[in-house]
Amino acid sequence: MSEYHPLSLEEAVALARTIPDHFRQDAELSVEEIGDGNLNLVFRITDSTKGKGLIIKQALPYAKVVGESWPLSLDRARIEREALEIQHSHVPDLVPAIYAYDNELAITVMEDLSDHTIMRKGLIEGQEYPHFAKHIGRFIASTLFYTSDLGMDQQAKKEQLGRFINPDLCKITEDLIFEDPYRDSPNNNFSEDIRPDAEALWHDDELRLEIALLREKFLTHAEALLHGDLHTGSIFATRESTKVIDPEFAYYGPMGFDIGAVIANLLLNFAAQPGWSSNSEELHARRLRLLTMAQGVWKHFETHFRDLWNRDLVDVMAKTPGYQDMYVQKVLRDAIGFAGAKMIRRIVGLSHVADIDTIPGAELQHQAKLTALKIGKALVKRGRFASSIDEITGIARQAA
Ligand code: ADP
Ligand code: MG
Ligand code: MG
Ligand code: MG
Repeated sequence: MSEYHPLSLEEAVALARTIPDHFRQDAELSVEEIGDGNLNLVFRITDSTKGKGLIIKQALPYAKVVGESWPLSLDRARIEREALEIQHSHVPDLVPAIYAYDNELAITVMEDLSDHTIMRKGLIEGQEYPHFAKHIGRFIASTLFYTSDLGMDQQAKKEQLGRFINPDLCKITEDLIFEDPYRDSPNNNFSEDIRPDAEALWHDDELRLEIALLREKFLTHAEALLHGDLHTGSIFATRESTKVIDPEFAYYGPMGFDIGAVIANLLLNFAAQPGWSSNSEELHARRLRLLTMAQGVWKHFETHFRDLWNRDLVDVMAKTPGYQDMYVQKVLRDAIGFAGAKMIRRIVGLSHVADIDTIPGAELQHQAKLTALKIGKALVKRGRFASSIDEITGIARQAA
């Protein structure tokens, strides 16, 4: 198409007009840039007479991080789009449709999901998502199983793995999740009121050993094509529907990482709820729902994953009695450990979550941070020895 440059609003509209079967020739289109502007531009183009528009997401060649610029490969737009296409082939109802793309311009044109709400916002507001665990459990099980050596031809998998080498984005995870919080790094970003608790992480060798082991898995265990950034800000939801967006961190990694990401973000909201619930009854109900959802994510994943294994396994050796149970137990333990790591980094690391950082009132915010850190540390330390997802409930309740 044309050489890379960030699209202007006018160019975004012109591009939207070229998408077949979408807007009428004479439609009056309006455009808005709705991204948060750190890594990517997101344009929403709408026809004044129609509710549903189009989204154009464009990667920027850098990330704005604490006032500085951090170069990031534009190839991640291709990676994000190809990951979306693969996910679409397995769970078409759980991701946006793609209408067009351009690798040179690093853009993807996709379905407008503005009739959904970003789940993080919904959870802060106390929204209920009765089908979420079932949906996301199926999303994770299908996308991971069918991209692993269990569910796809192993030679084809090796080739696919090569299309998802994503060094810049993996490095963000390696630094921000598995390194910075455990040392005195300039990338850390915590409030002074939790300095003693943050500094304690740097000297907790039991914790640091588990983090080193989780980091090793992230660096070396190419089990399946992960989403790679599956927090509640990458999920659009309504009461009935769930859509997963933003897989720009996709790469071949350990399955437990995606499951852990979802559980971590539900538990961050759990930790934050005293800051959002208006009375103790509501707090109790919301927290119970969050714990049930977190357990449900695992349970639906496990059920669906075992079904796929029993139905569509391509690896003859994996039929060996006992192997499935051991595999599932490994994924469970990884998921619990990664969930803990993801909670800790949102309290002391560079990037935080609105669930906690926008709580009105310093004392409630302080308490939420301590609760999240406590849960996170306990999950990391427990992960490698866990035998059931039910253990996360005890850990969360004890810390609260
Ligand atoms: P980033 O990688 O920069 O975080 P996201 O893909 O998460 O980009 O998109 C950023 C924001 O843009 C989302 O939080 C959402 O508000 C909006 N957005 C992204 N994709 C869509 C979509 N398909 N429909 C509607 N809004 C979207
Ligand atoms: Mg963002
Ligand atoms: Mg995002
Ligand atoms: Mg993103």
